[in-house]
Amino acid sequence: MYPFTLEQPTTLADAAQLAAGGAKLLAGGQSLLASMKLRLSAPGRLADISAIKELSGIRRDGNALVIGAMTRHIDVAGSAEVKAAIPALAQLAAHIGDRQVRAMGTLGGSVAHNDPAACYPSAVLGLGASVHTTQRKIAADDFFQGMFSTALLDGEIITAISFPLPKRAAYIKFNQPASRFALVGVFVAQTGSGVRVAVTGAANGVFRHRGLEDALNRSFSASAAAAVAIDASELNADLHASAAYRANLISVLTQRAVTQMLA
Ligand SMILES: Cc1cc2nc3c(=O)[nH]c(=O)nc-3n(C[C@H](O)[C@H](O)[C@H](O)COP(=O)(O)OP(=O)(O)OC[C@H]3O[C@@H](n4cnc5c(N)ncnc54)[C@H](O)[C@@H]3O)c2cc1C
Repeated sequence: MYPFTLEQPTTLADAAQLAAGGAKLLAGGQSLLASMKLRLSAPGRLADISAIKELSGIRRDGNALVIGAMTRHIDVAGSAEVKAAIPALAQLAAHIGDRQVRAMGTLGGSVAHNDPAACYPSAVLGLGASVHTTQRKIAADDFFQGMFSTALLDGEIITAISFPLPKRAAYIKFNQPASRFALVGVFVAQTGSGVRVAVTGAANGVFRHRGLEDALNRSFSASAAAAVAIDASELNADLHASAAYRANLISVLTQRAVTQMLA
């Protein structure tokens, strides 16, 4: 790890000022500190945002669930509010990494980092959520821009994410057994504007599968999902799984999600 200075702002205004001055935000540290230890990243100045009270917490706002960016995975997993409103989101959080990762990792950190195998981006995209920042509100469809890339500008801080309540939703992930990231994960939601299917782990970033969405909008059944051919040509292939294997997982996990939602 290279040397750095650590700031610990207690207000969002102070954090925004530090970020605007080039400080790198430190949330749960589960991705950032690992990359610094490996010397893949060398920020000279960190701003630890964990003491900013307004960034944490879970609340209902009409037909949406608003979760603060610094809310830890463990708190989303255990929240009675989340379990009642969007049980699939609590389930997703409960199966991120291991106990330590869930105790430290945060919703905002996960979404800002946008690891192509992370779980939360699929929920944000699948539920058609909005990302609230210090500067604006960004629709999920515009937020994720490929591997480790988002619409966030330099110095922009995610403050919360607003998840519209779906009629039903499910997230099914096939774990990469060593890391527990998604080898493939599929988030299916029946929303007011139709079915949304978001896939993580399979490509260079989370994406919606329009073929599955169209089929499930016509007939919300596992057999309708099974009839959709999944194109493997743009999917990842690595030592863990071929592109064809990932394509098959997208189909199978979508069918399982639909079956779970219909149960
Ligand atoms: C062993 C292991 C297993 C894991 N398994 C999974 C898994 O199964 N599923 C999964 O989804 N994830 C998994 N993760 C990742 C985990 O969820 C991380 O917590 C997450 O990716 C990053 O969140 P963080 O709070 O730790 O962010 P940090 O590491 O602190 O920050 C990550 C990046 O986001 C930026 N950032 C942080 N907060 C904000 C904000 N509010 N606004 C703007 N930018 C911000 C930081 O500057 C940094 O660039 C795993 C991690 C590990 C180490």
